Amino acid sequence: MLVSAGSPLAGDDRWADPFQVSHAVSSALVVAVDHVHCLRRAVNGCADCAPNEVTLLLNSYYSLLRGAMENAARVVWLLAPEQRSERVLRRLRLQAGNVIQSDAVCEAGGFPRNKSKADRLKRVEEIAQRSGISAAAAVKPPTNREIVRAAGEFIARDAGHAEVVWRACSAAAHGDTWALLSLHDRQVSDQVNDVVTVQTTASTRVLTTMVVEALGVIKSAFVLRDVRNRPPY
Ligand SMILES: [Zn+2]
Repeated sequence: MLVSAGSPLAGDDRWADPFQVSHAVSSALVVAVDHVHCLRRAVNGCADCAPNEVTLLLNSYYSLLRGAMENAARVVWLLAPEQRSERVLRRLRLQAGNVIQSDAVCEAGGFPRNKSKADRLKRVEEIAQRSGISAAAAVKPPTNREIVRAAGEFIARDAGHAEVVWRACSAAAHGDTWALLSLHDRQVSDQVNDVVTVQTTASTRVLTTMVVEALGVIKSAFVLRDVRNRPPY
């Protein structure tokens, strides 16, 4: 994406350099759209031989919606604060999370590291100090729960609602029983004493609702990106 000279984003990038805020925003937008694009391709039949066919799967679509929501929410979380120092702090916290996660992969896989985790985190601290931001706060990675709640608060003043949608999508990805019973249409096919056998089918009502929710977050992310990329004068 092209960052407009004199825009809030351009200033953010200078402060956070080399961990540009705009790059994190572009990357997260691509990942969010990538997920909903996959969903559309999975739902739609072949344009040539089955244009009217739709496929409704039970759980995997919610995994895609989760990826879309988390990444769109990440953009909103990054760009929502009015203060540059807070936006840059959030960008640095993302980088700290990146350092910690990538180091954990090297640890688990026994892969060599180019730089130690301590050195990489120290660099994040130095960038924070350079901009008058708390170094201790900058190396504290955010959780997806924090990110999603902040996005819900910003978009609709309802952090809890966003968390519920995100939790439902996550739980479907994990195959958690409560989510499977809540998200899908179900029919009891057999009941013996306290044991029930349930047949589930995809609920178009719930799926449509979740798609609308995820697309709402994506739309807000793009709008906010444009707002922060506009010079004030
Ligand atoms: Zn075909």
